[in-house]
Amino acid sequence: MNTPALAPWACHPGQTRGRRVPQPPSPPRHEHQRDRDRIVHSSAFRRLVYKTQVFINHEGDLFRTRLTHSLEVAQLGRSAARALQLNEDLVEAIALAHDLGHTPFGHAGQDALHDCMQAHGGFEHNLQSLRVVDRLEERYPEFDGLNLTFETREGVLKHCSRRNAQRLCAAEPQGPALRFLQGGQPSLEAQLVNIADELAYSAHDVDDGLRSGLITGQQLQDVPLLAHWRAQVLHDFPALAADSPRRLLAESLRRMLSAQVGDLVQATRAAVHAAQVQHADAVRAHSTPLATLSPALREQADALKSFLFKALYRHPQVTAMTDRARQVVAELFSAYTQAPQELPEEHRQRPDLHRTVADYIAGMTDRFALREHHRLTGRRLFPTAE
Ligand code: MG
Repeated sequence: MNTPALAPWACHPGQTRGRRVPQPPSPPRHEHQRDRDRIVHSSAFRRLVYKTQVFINHEGDLFRTRLTHSLEVAQLGRSAARALQLNEDLVEAIALAHDLGHTPFGHAGQDALHDCMQAHGGFEHNLQSLRVVDRLEERYPEFDGLNLTFETREGVLKHCSRRNAQRLCAAEPQGPALRFLQGGQPSLEAQLVNIADELAYSAHDVDDGLRSGLITGQQLQDVPLLAHWRAQVLHDFPALAADSPRRLLAESLRRMLSAQVGDLVQATRAAVHAAQVQHADAVRAHSTPLATLSPALREQADALKSFLFKALYRHPQVTAMTDRARQVVAELFSAYTQAPQELPEEHRQRPDLHRTVADYIAGMTDRFALREHHRLTGRRLFPTAE
């Protein structure tokens, strides 16, 4: 199958900045397709299926996990990339890897681990995703990690504190952390994934929030973006309100997402033309990101996010659950640091105990973390989970 020509400002696979350990090419795959394949076959990728976004994994089989989230991000990102003649395979690789460093229990787990690591360099999930693909995966005889291309690693490192960027740059002066010291943007492909991530979780959290009963259809009426698409669907299918609220919601979210991707494509195309960039490095040197939503849609998307924040992420039932999840992570951390003999053999031999424990906990699935917590403390903080 012929791949469509890439725009001049796309990341062309033939012009990759390469891998840290040089390797011969692997035709017919190009370098970013090869990255995507390595990510799909990694152990961290498989574990995403048992890690949660907002809901704890055992709560129901219908809710999104990090794996389905990553697939949704890849789907939205690829659609936009194809329309913009960007490198779809690179977008897919970044999307599939972007959450590899996430701890069990979503943001609660990550915040708890960051607190535990305060005196030992902290814990940042984007940096952890890079650490997974650069170091923690053990699959190749010749190197640690997956030895991905610069472009995929650049997309994975979405945020990075200055302190960590200095540390990374000391080891790799031209690496993906340099832009956090010098300013500048990642590739358009990476920028698209950032927006696709946000669009994906806003839409699926509405869906999961309704399914769980934590948010109601009535509340959605106050969110202009959702109210707009719901009204459009009801205009076309008036009977759905009574006959099938599920189809009404699914069709509203489907139309919303496809309008958002359309808006992203148009606004990004306009921004790229206005900036007159001619190649990927000009995108990187530009003062602002060029992948963007239109101002009107940005405002609506932000309103949806703040609605979700108040109504779902800060819902008393969710915070009660995330408080316990934090406690699980904090107690695991102190149990392993006080009794390193409880770590698996191969982890015990690593030099930095605190970082080793953080890596080990970050790699856990929700249910494994709960099992280990019970084994080490004798208590069950989520009695229904096991
Ligand atoms: Mg994400």
